[in-house]
Amino acid sequence: MREASRRRAREEARRRARREHGIVKNVTHWINGTAVAGAGRTADIFDPARGEVAGRVRLASAAEVDAAVAAAAAAHPGWRDTSLVKRSQVLFRFRELVHAHRDELAALISAEHGKVHSDALGEVARGLEVVEFACGVPHLLKGGFSEGVSTRVDSYSIRQPLGVVAGITPFNFPAMVPMWMFPVAIACGNTFVLKPSERDPSASLLLARLWTEAGLPDGVFNVVQGDKEAVDRLLEHPDVKAVSFVGSTPVARHVYETGTAAGKRVQALGGAKNHMLVLPDADLDLVADSAVSAGFGSAGERCMAISVVLAVDPVGDELVEKIVSRVGKLTVGPGDDPRSEMGPLVTAAHRDKVASYLEVGVAEGAELVVDGRLTPVLGGGAAAETPGFWLGPTVLDRVPPGSRVHTEEIFGPVLAVVRVSSYEEGLALINGGEYGNGTAIFTNDGGAARRFQNEVEAGMVGINVPIPVPTAFYSFGGWKASLFGDTHVHGTEGVHFYTRGKVVTSRWLDPSHGGVNLGFPTSA
Ligand code: NAD
Repeated sequence: MREASRRRAREEARRRARREHGIVKNVTHWINGTAVAGAGRTADIFDPARGEVAGRVRLASAAEVDAAVAAAAAAHPGWRDTSLVKRSQVLFRFRELVHAHRDELAALISAEHGKVHSDALGEVARGLEVVEFACGVPHLLKGGFSEGVSTRVDSYSIRQPLGVVAGITPFNFPAMVPMWMFPVAIACGNTFVLKPSERDPSASLLLARLWTEAGLPDGVFNVVQGDKEAVDRLLEHPDVKAVSFVGSTPVARHVYETGTAAGKRVQALGGAKNHMLVLPDADLDLVADSAVSAGFGSAGERCMAISVVLAVDPVGDELVEKIVSRVGKLTVGPGDDPRSEMGPLVTAAHRDKVASYLEVGVAEGAELVVDGRLTPVLGGGAAAETPGFWLGPTVLDRVPPGSRVHTEEIFGPVLAVVRVSSYEEGLALINGGEYGNGTAIFTNDGGAARRFQNEVEAGMVGINVPIPVPTAFYSFGGWKASLFGDTHVHGTEGVHFYTRGKVVTSRWLDPSHGGVNLGFPTSA
């Protein structure tokens, strides 16, 4: 009761603030170490838990993108010549500041994305791992040295930064995904222009302020808010040398094709449809816990969410029963309510699209065993009738293989169970799909698990682990339509993506040098 009346008071305060002050939040760009208001178009930012407009964000024009790139280009010579140790010290300070501001960052994420506070803290923690990895840049950029590759000739390798690089990121991880990119890029001596998602842009500005406080020189990290216009300008701008993109597959393909046609290095990570293969010997309580956690965490808006459970006969009935009983105990509510385990979806349009798959699934012959439209929402009624972008956890059983619910990326709290008769049938369904981001097998049979990790076509594989997101010192990336380009993000591959190799061969003359020789140089 007390919590309900506190909630009503909070709602009223929020409404009054909006009535009296109009739209409260105005999210700007960050160029050359300062907030830049921008001019021209804007987009609404929503409070997904209440379904109201909570602010607006600027959408950069091509000229505003050019200003950010110019600031980054001007900052590059100074930053690339800053010693490795000094760069590393700035990163250490940034790490401490992000850690100290993690609650503030999580609250911003939760307010605009909708995910619950603890989940937002988790994404900040996973982003910080990459900062910690990048603090080791003096070690990461060590080259090789070979003395005497030829007589009195030495060779050594060095890696140098590219210049200005850009990151274009999706709504679902407004802090972590940018932090997959810019710590490594900046540590390697590049300057950076971030184009965050226009749906939850505020986290990027707090990160920019923290960089400045950490002592990063102005212009090394810039943020342009925007949409397609800003992205397309970054893709064609001659001073942008490389682009990292994370988002949906159609846009990833566009970014890869346009960016590489303009001569840039591009890594473009796309969408996903991640399957969990459950063998009959698996621990079904562990499987059910994992499927529910990985299917409905962050309302299923994770590129590593499990969206399909492949239940190998005869475990289907028992497993579905265990999943359904767990789903019934989940608490759905606003991200800022500590009781909530799952929040709303990001926008009304996205919620409607996700919810439309319930009818699609039933029309295709699936059984709707948990209908998320009926899920009660804390402080409201059934999801479908509560203001805000709500859809509760939904389970569709006996989803026909190859149907739309089985194959299309839904990106919401809809878990499909597909019954299969064997390991081979399950593996064929995974490998026959369009995407290859993550996947998992649940079994107690080491031989089967080993066979799976060898045969499955996906970039990230879990063995009794439902969301196998690699730690920062490995690299994150999928296969097939989940990644365009050949380099995964962060880890060693990230260092390679943001640097160019150079091999120097040197000889210091001594009195015995041998004069002119037009033959092709061979070792002697
Ligand atoms: P999105 O593709 O709509 O947007 C991603 C970025 O591209 C945003 O910054 C957006 O402003 C920009 N953009 C959107 N449309 C564009 C266009 N037509 N031209 C140029 N730029 C455009 O993706 P989203 O809805 O923000 O994020 C969800 C998607 O991201 C899902 O498909 C999810 O699987 C994917 N994702 C993938 C990974 C991964 O690691 N593979 C990680 C997170 C999210």
